[in-house]
Amino acid sequence: MTARTRDIEKAAGALRAGGLVALPTETVYGLGANAADPAALARVFQAKGRPPSHPLIVHLCGPEHLDLWVEDVPPAARLLAEHFWPGPLTLVLRRGRRVPREATGGLDTVAVRVPDHPVALALLAAFDGGVAAPSANRFGSVSPTTADHVRAELGDAVDFVLDGGPCEVGVESTIVDTTSEIPSILRPGGVIREDLETVLGRPLADGSTSRVRVPGQHPTHYAPRARVVLVKPDKVVAEAELAQEHGHQVGVLVPPALADAPVKAHAVVALPRSMAAYARGLYGLLRELDQRGCDLIVTSLPVQQGLGLAIANRLRRAAGPRPPNDTATNAIRRQRGVSR
Ligand code: AMP
Ligand code: MG
Repeated sequence: MTARTRDIEKAAGALRAGGLVALPTETVYGLGANAADPAALARVFQAKGRPPSHPLIVHLCGPEHLDLWVEDVPPAARLLAEHFWPGPLTLVLRRGRRVPREATGGLDTVAVRVPDHPVALALLAAFDGGVAAPSANRFGSVSPTTADHVRAELGDAVDFVLDGGPCEVGVESTIVDTTSEIPSILRPGGVIREDLETVLGRPLADGSTSRVRVPGQHPTHYAPRARVVLVKPDKVVAEAELAQEHGHQVGVLVPPALADAPVKAHAVVALPRSMAAYARGLYGLLRELDQRGCDLIVTSLPVQQGLGLAIANRLRRAAGPRPPNDTATNAIRRQRGVSR
């Protein structure tokens, strides 16, 4: 038995015993529990500090398990599952009877996906059941993309951490509601809209018209400790330098178009040109700027197409409203008409 197989067996045993296992996926690291065990699910919410009304995504080892967890799979959902699984696509479907209410926040829908990571798939096969897994971080903070991030976030709250290396995609899955006549995107993510529409052979509906409630899509989420301020690309350097002059420890994520501009700030990071590389590195960069002692992060939104849509969604929420006593960010916002 290899070390990897031994770890998978131990992790599957921990799931069977009602424990929590952090598992690598291609998107971010998940905090997994037996999706059929209400007590284990309660531990997930407790470990994360996540409100129990926020539903979890149930991870399966293949589309053939779909009918165990959901009812009435419409043809569009089958088509998307065939094309994109394993992969960073979550489908919202009608909840099957065996799904505990704890997994769905009391909704009559359930979110399911098959992750594209050999370690996650090996665990799901060894466990031979559904694993409910939100991202393995404290509620509201930056999602982990390495096993070290998980240990730093959750420490002893996890029974077993499976290390599968850094995550390839780096942002969460695209969530698609397939319970309505025309599917719609509830959260942009690793599978891009253009590819979904090509496979479906029709445009997706506007997500805001979906009848599905989407709890857990908070305006502030994915946030580092440092305040995040979004400005127009041509203002990034000036805003960063101004805040630094006013006594902030400023971290700057410099858009590729400005790569050669010198910036007087505490920490300066050039963003990659490729959207895939940006998505892969995004959460790690936010963590790094926290660690380097930044109290303010200045950047701009990428062009919102393809993966840029998911990146912009996470950056907007990282820059979401903070408590009213956060005078630093709120003052900069007021002065500068920050783009949100
Ligand atoms: P994460 O926080 O990355 O684990 O993603 C879980 C998110 O999936 C939740 O916060 C919801 O926004 C969404 N979600 C999960 N289950 C459902 C559901 N049944 N209906 C609608 N959205 C869901
Ligand atoms: Mg999360």
